[in-house]
Amino acid sequence: MAFLVKKFGGTSVGTIDRIKHVAKTLCAARKAGDDIVVVVSAMSGETNKLVAMAREVMPGTVDVRELDVLLATGEQVTIALLSMALKELGCDARSYTGAQVKVLTDSSHSKARIVSIDNEPIMSDIAAGRIVVVAGFQGVDEGGNITTLGRGGSDTSAVALAAALKADECQIYTDVDGVYTTDPRVESRARRLDRITFEEMLEMASLGSKVLQIRAVEFAGKYNVPLRVLSSFKPGQGTLITYDDEENEMEQALVSGIAFNRDEAQVTVSGVADKPGIAYAILGPIAELNIEVDVILQNIGENGLTDFTFTVHRDDYAKVMAFLSERKDDFGADSIIGNDRIVKLSIVGVGMRSHAGIASKMFQALSEAGINLRMITTSEIKISVVIDENYLELGVRALHEKFELAEEDSA
Ligand code: ADP
Ligand code: ASP
Ligand code: MG
Repeated sequence: MAFLVKKFGGTSVGTIDRIKHVAKTLCAARKAGDDIVVVVSAMSGETNKLVAMAREVMPGTVDVRELDVLLATGEQVTIALLSMALKELGCDARSYTGAQVKVLTDSSHSKARIVSIDNEPIMSDIAAGRIVVVAGFQGVDEGGNITTLGRGGSDTSAVALAAALKADECQIYTDVDGVYTTDPRVESRARRLDRITFEEMLEMASLGSKVLQIRAVEFAGKYNVPLRVLSSFKPGQGTLITYDDEENEMEQALVSGIAFNRDEAQVTVSGVADKPGIAYAILGPIAELNIEVDVILQNIGENGLTDFTFTVHRDDYAKVMAFLSERKDDFGADSIIGNDRIVKLSIVGVGMRSHAGIASKMFQALSEAGINLRMITTSEIKISVVIDENYLELGVRALHEKFELAEEDSA
């Protein structure tokens, strides 16, 4: 018997049959004595459809307040259908939108942050033996406006509920049976990890592994919420996200996983003066446009001139190129060169901290595969390279092989 928050992603509730299947497993768990709060996403593809409709109506800059009102409807459909399916099985249930359980957020539409949640209605339903079904991805701000938490945000709703309700575990049910050494869609020999540390999971998520939303991992780490990723299609233990302890560290592999991000684009400002203030002159206005810059590289200057390269999200690429091209004379650049066909490929592992030579092993694997490295960046537990997008799959497989991450019996 446990108090569990269980989250089901889009594919897990993607059809009426899947919703009925989820209802059946929830009913069985409830009958076995577990107290359950369920968080659901919209049916798979629904959020994308809603975004596309909004773009048709407002092709320019979409109104973020109204977009959130629209997107929140996706999850409202699934909470109602799942609650009906549960009742149909004789299992008492009650659905709530984010606003109904006062998932209070700030007012940053489309990327709102959760401030607090009202436990009261949920706990009284739990005490009455009901399964509580809450819409993920959404909240409400102080002014009563509906907000959403960013794509993949139902993971964060689930973790926040688990923290607020002091649940025993937050279980994220998805279409894979845990966190793998890399995305199993790209490397079929990827291996499921029994455990991964919060620190590594946070890096993996930040570097592009969309199996968990970054904020969900941050939140779970901060509030010490036991977090597990499992499949809604096949039973199993899944992957537990844990704090690092000495025992784990002893067994820690050098590299735990490979992450990649296809959403990047590269911009080079060429032939600028190699003098104090140049990075600020270029990146300051970009920051003011509210555009996030990722990898940054500045060459050693020659003849007083240097090149300055950075990456941005592909969605921001055209805007940044247009902006800099227009202002290139302001910071005396020769030219602005761009490439939106690049990706970032990274290796992650806490074991890296205490071992030298991991970077050269990574570069060796990529050189053997004939892959050119455009940019390199490192931190304590990760190394990232920027490469041409055509080489992504090859690069993932080469690194997977070099760091011996595959299932033993599939090698
Ligand atoms: P949901 O709709 O349930 O939220 P997502 O599509 O957001 O599911 O996340 C699950 C997907 O994450 C998997 O289908 C898989 O392709 C992808 N993924 C990326 N990296 C990893 C990884 N390291 N381990 C497992 N899955 C991963
Ligand atoms: N439905 C939202 C999305 O597609 C939230 C989620 O699935 O977590 O991003
Ligand atoms: Mg997701």
